[in-house]
Amino acid sequence: MPRGDSDPSATHQPEAFSSLSLPSALQDNLASLGYLAMTPIQAASLPPILRGRDVIGQGKTGSGKTAAFGLGLLSTLEVARFQVQGLVLCPTRELADQVAEELRRLARMLANVKILSLCGGAPLGPQLNSLSHGAHVVVGTPGRIEEHLRKGSLDLSSLAVLVLDEADRMLDMGFQAALDAIVAATPTTRQTLLFSATYGDSVRPVAERLLREPVTVEVASTH
Ligand code: ADP
Ligand code: MG
Repeated sequence: MPRGDSDPSATHQPEAFSSLSLPSALQDNLASLGYLAMTPIQAASLPPILRGRDVIGQGKTGSGKTAAFGLGLLSTLEVARFQVQGLVLCPTRELADQVAEELRRLARMLANVKILSLCGGAPLGPQLNSLSHGAHVVVGTPGRIEEHLRKGSLDLSSLAVLVLDEADRMLDMGFQAALDAIVAATPTTRQTLLFSATYGDSVRPVAERLLREPVTVEVASTH
């Protein structure tokens, strides 16, 4: 080992994605995206996520939470099964679109993975049409997802992974009832991942109800 090449104030070396057992198509794609090392929240949350554990992840904006749950979700997909296996709930249409975009980037070397964005404020017709063609992953806002469940246009009975992204904001916006209705439509065998910038009084009781023996991962800052 060469001496003097490490920063004594650093407690962790950057960890390579190659330390994870990800499908090679995902692994190769990360390199092509320029994702050379995991961010701290990815390094802490991906191992338990890939073992199938429920995870509560707390980290600031920009810490790389999307790829943390996204790689977990994409690595469990059975692409040959054309059913909704992953659902990501976000507080706003803008955030949902960003998540869908990042998931598509992460999935681009996985053949034929269909990722659908279903948000309020957009017309229902095209969404109904898209849903009739099927999807593997749905990203959306709670109100619109609940509406599709009521209409019978969305089937979550094969869901494997449920992600609550920015859970604190979703609850602050009053989405609790929609969230409960959505969760009730998913199998109890699902894996649940909850990501939030804060973990306060609004999030804690929901996490305790919806997650099973969760691993909690908290990352103070990224840089
Ligand atoms: P958060 O949801 O925690 O606010 P994002 O998931 O939106 O953060 O990620 C912030 C930015 O960092 C995005 O532009 C994303 O593409 C980039 N990013 C995420 N993980 C990595 C990584 N391991 N290496 C390089 N860039 C990354
Ligand atoms: Mg985010």
